[in-house]
Amino acid sequence: MATIEQSSADAASAPREIPVENPATGEVIRTIPATTPAEVATLVARARAAQPAWEALGFEGRGQILRRAQKWVTDNSARIVETIVSETGKTWEDAQLAEVAYAANAFGFWAKRAPKYLADEKIRSSNVFVAGRKLAVRYRPVGVVGVIGPWNYPLTNSFGDCIPAMAAGNAVVLKPSEITPLTSLLMAECMRECGLPEGVFAVAPGYGDTGSALVDAVDMVMFTGSTATGKKVMARAAETLTPVSLELGGKDPMVVLADADVERAANAAVYWSMQNGGQTCISIERAYVVEPIYDDFVRRVTEKVQALRQGQPGGPGSVDVGAVTHPPQLDIVRRHVDEATAAGARVVAGGHARETGGRYFEPTVLVDVDQDMSCITEETFGPTLPIVKVADEAEAVAKANDSRYGLGAYVWTKDTAHGEAVARELESGAVCVNDAQVNYLALELPMGGWKESGLGVRHGAPGIRKYTRQQALLVTRIAPKKDVHMFPYKARTSRMLGGLVKLLYGRGKRA
Ligand code: NAD
Repeated sequence: MATIEQSSADAASAPREIPVENPATGEVIRTIPATTPAEVATLVARARAAQPAWEALGFEGRGQILRRAQKWVTDNSARIVETIVSETGKTWEDAQLAEVAYAANAFGFWAKRAPKYLADEKIRSSNVFVAGRKLAVRYRPVGVVGVIGPWNYPLTNSFGDCIPAMAAGNAVVLKPSEITPLTSLLMAECMRECGLPEGVFAVAPGYGDTGSALVDAVDMVMFTGSTATGKKVMARAAETLTPVSLELGGKDPMVVLADADVERAANAAVYWSMQNGGQTCISIERAYVVEPIYDDFVRRVTEKVQALRQGQPGGPGSVDVGAVTHPPQLDIVRRHVDEATAAGARVVAGGHARETGGRYFEPTVLVDVDQDMSCITEETFGPTLPIVKVADEAEAVAKANDSRYGLGAYVWTKDTAHGEAVARELESGAVCVNDAQVNYLALELPMGGWKESGLGVRHGAPGIRKYTRQQALLVTRIAPKKDVHMFPYKARTSRMLGGLVKLLYGRGKRA
């Protein structure tokens, strides 16, 4: 009850319009209405009514529409890129490679894989007491999935999660970030044009109150965003025992060992910390470099970061690093850099915000960084790379693991067998050796966070099964009129069954 009252209070205070700004220019490009909590309930009711027919279409029927959407995305890629760039201020390449290419791949992937990942599974049991029965597991869509997304990847991390949810036979209501709702509205147009039945997919642009209303109304919540909001979503969902999958914040470490290819490691450090302006949950957010190669690594990284071109994105190849999408993020990035320098760190590239004609933070490298600085302990989510000098691998691993987050981690060494051994020591949902982030492209590979980086995974079989309810089936085909253990209990039968238990399981060893 308390949460419902809270929701009404939020609803009264939340603005009913969303002015969408281009962060690269500071101009408002469009104003759209925010969905009220009452309207969310209506959208979910419509989705609930549309879902059974969508489920009944089967994998083949749903797959046809998803494949049409795949074609729509490639045919309309320029328009999608333009929309993403206009509301995020990211570069043309960041929109093309990490968003449009992702969605185009994902439509085909889930259309093809959903029937395999969600096929009935035949189960064999070793327990003689169920011998002769047919055992199976089947997966049934939950009904209506509520997807809530962040602003950093309005296509990949908002609409992207709707694809497997729909492929599984669910209807979906998507609440995109209030900062970047336009891409989701464009994808609603895509799905309509591709013949998705009315009501199966709806977009509910809005603020936090719209998100909470969605959590209250749906059968499952797929949330991507900050750890702080993820905790609120989980608490709210607990009121109705609604399952949640949470993809949250990260502070991904990069461990560079003495035998690493320093040039490749430096290029990767620069790219994977600055790509998308560092506004990626699995960005490299801190580097631990062993003493023998530290100076060489820092010199190469500094030169490469100083050469990056930043500014308002135009067409392909126009700039390397775009704008800071979310206004409060600029203050967080600035605070982390200022607190680090106040505590003795040095800025060797960048270091300043620029707010004339858009919102930017210069690509920044920090050295002489300590483990207890906020640029190491908190998620920065901006174009910064703090580099920490460590004595050896053991110190690097210990410091990499010393975090409340555990999303991704990256190890660099020419000895790949050793790199894999180090990877297995790192406390993260995904670890790459001599690479970063590209695990995300393998949609077969589950991706999710440990510790405060999340709960559940996207991608792979578990990434679609989470949108279903699992049902265990047992069918007894040939059976006597009465089983031996049934009433009335008889001492002789009970002793015989006791003997059977000893015979079957009595071979365990005490020591
Ligand atoms: P955020 O938590 O501020 O917002 C995320 C979404 O939640 C938005 O749509 C917002 O309107 C909504 N929301 C806010 N309050 C809500 C409430 N009480 N109930 C329901 N919904 C509510 O996050 P953000 O700033 O948009 O995104 C950045 C964060 O997302 C970073 O921490 C980043 O690491 C994380 N992220 C994680 C992944 C991943 O896969 N793990 C991917 C992308 C981004």
